[in-house]
Amino acid sequence: MLIKLGILCAVILTVATVLVSLPEVEKNVNLDLNTAVNLTGRNRERSIMEYHPPPESLPSMNITSFLEDPTEREWKGPFTFIQGADTQFGMIDHYLLKKDEPNWDKEIALTRDVIQRINAMNPKPKFFVVCGDMLDAFPYTVSQNSREFPGALELREKQYQDFVQVFKELVSDVKLVCVCGNHDIGDTPTKETLQVYKRQFGQDYFSFWAGGVKFVVLNSQYIYVPDAIPEETERQMQFMDGIADPKAKFIVLFMHIPLFVEEPEEEDFYFNVPKERRLQLLEKFYTAGVRYIFCGHYHRNAGGRYKKLELVVTSAIGAPLGDNPSGYRIVNVGEDEISHNYVTIRDSTDFSNSNEDTSNSNES
Ligand SMILES: [Zn+2]
Repeated sequence: MLIKLGILCAVILTVATVLVSLPEVEKNVNLDLNTAVNLTGRNRERSIMEYHPPPESLPSMNITSFLEDPTEREWKGPFTFIQGADTQFGMIDHYLLKKDEPNWDKEIALTRDVIQRINAMNPKPKFFVVCGDMLDAFPYTVSQNSREFPGALELREKQYQDFVQVFKELVSDVKLVCVCGNHDIGDTPTKETLQVYKRQFGQDYFSFWAGGVKFVVLNSQYIYVPDAIPEETERQMQFMDGIADPKAKFIVLFMHIPLFVEEPEEEDFYFNVPKERRLQLLEKFYTAGVRYIFCGHYHRNAGGRYKKLELVVTSAIGAPLGDNPSGYRIVNVGEDEISHNYVTIRDSTDFSNSNEDTSNSNES
């Protein structure tokens, strides 16, 4: 018994020594895109390679300038960005209207409306972040698919192609930042669904700088279901250890599932992160200097505070589930604080008499 214990200790010690002696970048590969741009030689190339850029089909998602331009790390005065969530192509027909053959013309019209409003803004916002659930159909193959209609992956590809087409209309000087939602990687993510996500939208957690502010994108599925892909959960945990940066004017975090929807101590339910992890993370983020977190998933406007940290929950660009009609948020990054207001793009939350799908409708 003692011998076994001795061997075990030796093994643990050896592993620990190897881990400690690894260069920093080896441990943090794939973790922080900001690290990648400060590296040289082979390690730099390797880190860049680990960044999974979105396919060429979505040029607005190429945020290289936010990663490589050192002037983006400098505060030069107030600016705006746009935050939306849950474009969720397909949900209105499928979930709200219970149609047998759902399409997503209504979501296309709503998203296009937001894009046109952004294109008309002057000055332009620095970027448009969609806080998860870009599409409704899960990335599962039929055999893995227990919760949703069959053929989810095939349906998802169609929704994705339309998403790409619509976002090609976004003016090129406004970048698109996508955040991974439960519909984008699955309620229980797998390595396969993660690959689908990376192929469609690129990296699932990363940080970037814009206008002197550090923005951090997280994959909340690794927080909500930590056992699904434990190694990714662990890597994102390590990544979160590097959030703090005293040079940042503000540190802002984006994630899909809100840590809480009204108050930090609220009871667990479908739309928040379980309390045991929630309170720990709130304190971790607060200590790291995060003062704003923007989320989606709830399909209603909500939010609250943890100490001086404001958590903002934004209703859907697509299907609303509460009293807030579809819309998005204009976020003003000011000298002393970040403020925001919700802009509705419809008057009603009722889609039963909607005529927004006339373009592809055969009924008229
Ligand atoms: Zn969601």
